Amino acid sequence: MAASNQNTSKTVTLIPGDGIGPECVESARRIIDATGAGVTWEVRHAGESVFKQGIPSGVPTDTIESIRKTRCVLKGPLGTPVGYGEKSANVTLRKLFETFGNIRPVRELPGVKTPYSGRGIDLVVVRENVEDLYAGIEHMQTPSVAQCLKLISRKGCEKIVRLAFEFARSEGRKSVVCATKSNIMKLTEGTLKRTFEEIAKEYPDIQSWHIIIDNCAHQLVKKPEQFDVIVTTNMNGDIISDLTSALVGGLGFAPSANLGNDVAIFEAVHGSAPKYAGKNVINPTAVIGSSIMMLRHLGEFDAAQKIENALLVTLEEGKVKTGDVVGYDSGLACTTTAFTDEIIKNLGKEPRTIKPRVYKPLNIPRISSDPVSVRPKSRRVIGADIFVESGLLPDKLGPALEAKAEGTALKLKMISNRGTQVYPDKGTLIDCVDQYRCRFVLRDAAGNLSDNELITLLNKLSPEHQWVHIEKLAEFDGQPGFTKAQGED
Ligand code: NAP
Repeated sequence: MAASNQNTSKTVTLIPGDGIGPECVESARRIIDATGAGVTWEVRHAGESVFKQGIPSGVPTDTIESIRKTRCVLKGPLGTPVGYGEKSANVTLRKLFETFGNIRPVRELPGVKTPYSGRGIDLVVVRENVEDLYAGIEHMQTPSVAQCLKLISRKGCEKIVRLAFEFARSEGRKSVVCATKSNIMKLTEGTLKRTFEEIAKEYPDIQSWHIIIDNCAHQLVKKPEQFDVIVTTNMNGDIISDLTSALVGGLGFAPSANLGNDVAIFEAVHGSAPKYAGKNVINPTAVIGSSIMMLRHLGEFDAAQKIENALLVTLEEGKVKTGDVVGYDSGLACTTTAFTDEIIKNLGKEPRTIKPRVYKPLNIPRISSDPVSVRPKSRRVIGADIFVESGLLPDKLGPALEAKAEGTALKLKMISNRGTQVYPDKGTLIDCVDQYRCRFVLRDAAGNLSDNELITLLNKLSPEHQWVHIEKLAEFDGQPGFTKAQGED
């Protein structure tokens, strides 16, 4: 992968990270230095040590300043120690610099035997990297009911879809598959599917189709060689990219690039694997692979190819094998250092069994920075979902709310409990919890709900019925901007 970005400097912010991070990163750094590539390192920190200094974000100012300057990061995994910080420093770093696309390639490697060996797996997961449940907006709506907001924007979808197609072109790949759960989450996951289907038309040279994410997981295990590029939402991508790494030998072999318009962060897919920390036994290939992606991003194509070739030769020859490949207790496993030394020794050699890919510059899509990406011609609010904390059962709560809504602009249409209609009763058997979504709609079907009308209803409901959350029911260009409850007519 090669990116056409504005980074003229070859200074890279190097974050050793936690657990096995420093060992992996040191390995990659030694190999890059041995190629003579013009990279200088600015070592900065994030993660556990920083949390323990009392910096709640886990990312100190001097690290942010360094990244703003270098625009390029090679990092080890970061952990969140129990009792420190609330957010993953890793996710914070990705989000602070709007690295919206996470490219996670896996490829069958010589000398790494798996149940899939010989099938030619060579695929890439392009994971949306800053939205979805990773927005991390969570609330306890009642003492016993937690909520996490799944935020998906049209703009975020456009960026990741365009990145996936551009990436496919840069590597001469044949197809891009969009994997979503749009059959269940029609608005959030559906936005990615719809955006994908629209933008795919601009890339007629690349085959494209949609697949439901659960079937995608099934197909990945059954016939992974059918896939080339898979574009998906953040959570789906997080899960299936661990799966795809296992197809080619495990997390020790899975590199990644977090790409944005301004900053790129290169790191392994794996975490800090604390049980192996400091033992000099782990497989550094994932971070080495990430550093190869980084060199191409920096325009250092020769050094990147040299390292890739030396890594492949090392795996082909199999003189040294890491514990994840041969078993840590087999007596055959080499140290991380020995594996690194062997790659350095093999710099300049070419692999026999794998043909190097031809890389073209990757055009990272830059779309309008206007926060508004969809402008409907008309909109109106036809009601509101009012979430209420209540210990009442639906047959008591429903009539009580109907009585409260008397004389207001709104009437109760239905109540659901965790998404399923429980009032009016449809004869279902729902084990309710103390959070109800109460859907009120305008009595005047052609009206447009005002804030004052809504506030009047809220004032009538409380304090007897404790409302905890409100969502307006909007229509954009006559289309409902909300979904029905299970069982709602
Ligand atoms: P993990 O660190 O990825 O480790 C899971 C397992 O994967 C390991 O036990 C090991 O499997 C294997 N593995 C990972 N890296 C390997 C390597 N380089 N060589 C050989 N085997 C490797 O996942 P985790 O234990 O769930 O997470 C640990 C911490 O890392 C958590 O704090 C998590 O939040 C953090 N994390 C950080 C990042 C990041 O910074 N990018 C990503 C993911 C997780 P075996 O046990 O089978 O040998």
